[in-house]
Amino acid sequence: MKVLQNNLKRQHDIYLDEYNNKALEVLNSGWYILGKEVESFEKEYADYISCKHCVGVASGMDALQIAFRILGIKEGDEVIVCSNSYIACVMGITMNGGTPVFVEPDEYDNIDADKVEEKITEKTKAILAVHLYGQSCDMDKIMELAKKHSLKVVEDCAQAHGTMWKDKKVGSIGDIACWSFYPTKNLGGFGDGGAITTNIDDYAAQARVIRNYGSKRIHYENDIIGMNSRLDELQAGLLRVKLSHLDELNAERGKIAERYMNEISNPLICPLKTRPGSNNVYHQFVIHCKKRDELIEYLKENEIGTIIHYPIPPHLQQAYAYLGYKKGDFPIAERYADEVVSLPMYNGISSEELDYVIDALNRFE
Ligand SMILES: *Cc1c(COP(=O)(O)O)cnc(C)c1O
Repeated sequence: MKVLQNNLKRQHDIYLDEYNNKALEVLNSGWYILGKEVESFEKEYADYISCKHCVGVASGMDALQIAFRILGIKEGDEVIVCSNSYIACVMGITMNGGTPVFVEPDEYDNIDADKVEEKITEKTKAILAVHLYGQSCDMDKIMELAKKHSLKVVEDCAQAHGTMWKDKKVGSIGDIACWSFYPTKNLGGFGDGGAITTNIDDYAAQARVIRNYGSKRIHYENDIIGMNSRLDELQAGLLRVKLSHLDELNAERGKIAERYMNEISNPLICPLKTRPGSNNVYHQFVIHCKKRDELIEYLKENEIGTIIHYPIPPHLQQAYAYLGYKKGDFPIAERYADEVVSLPMYNGISSEELDYVIDALNRFE
């Protein structure tokens, strides 16, 4: 049996008619950029997150770049970020001239909030809380530190659509939050897309201006140097359809994760635990394995797909050679990069496929 790590066709087929109808509706509307679909999506997503504002942009990367720009991050400013986060998190900081200051992850593979304070200097301006793999960072500790040291908090929620920290949805807790609707995300579109959520009126207003060439109106009056970063009508319309089913889709991911948790009995394979206080929408089902590369090879022989999120931590990427880090500087992130692998996890996976994957995992030695 062949099982892919992800299969977007399956989840598309679950609500096929609704997507097809919405796509045709938008195509036939004659209006494709910044129209009623984007406006409705922004309202519905803000409501879903229980946040005052949502501003659609072209990608998660753009959301991060715009968020740090709104916070005024510039050359000489430091932003604290987890050493095992995705490269886009770091790029959002450095595209604005800021310097990433890495903090190692804890046992939940997210930033170790107890190690943040020792990295705060007079240059520190913000903390980027990346809610990796579908669970929340410890937002109580992060918000408390931010308050104590007058720092801004940016949330990267690209892997956490619907994740809760205690009684709040992530993306409503920090000063500004960044979302990606890349097709593989829990709330994935059918192309690139992203958004910013915030409770701060001025930040939302700035994001609306920056995404549209620095213009407050639709056309040709430019107050600042902005960019072209708009969520389009087709994506927004299709995202509205998916958003109406997001809780069902996340619940199905939870059921898949539950089967993995309950049925993987191989001591070589350690599923990532979820932090108390957070739920988990299982953007990825991540396991740690000391013999990770052998496991991947073995699963490949059994036609089971896996992906490593992520094989090279940002401080060891060529793009960030100028920061001057070397192997050994962030040993926990480096160890995780050698240990983690994401198992098949997607809406529409069959129970026979899961049986097959779990059986293979339990036979690995
Ligand atoms: C996907 C992702 C991004 C970037 O989103 P794009 O829409 O692909 O630009 C940023 N941060 C994290 C944690 C992500 O998973």
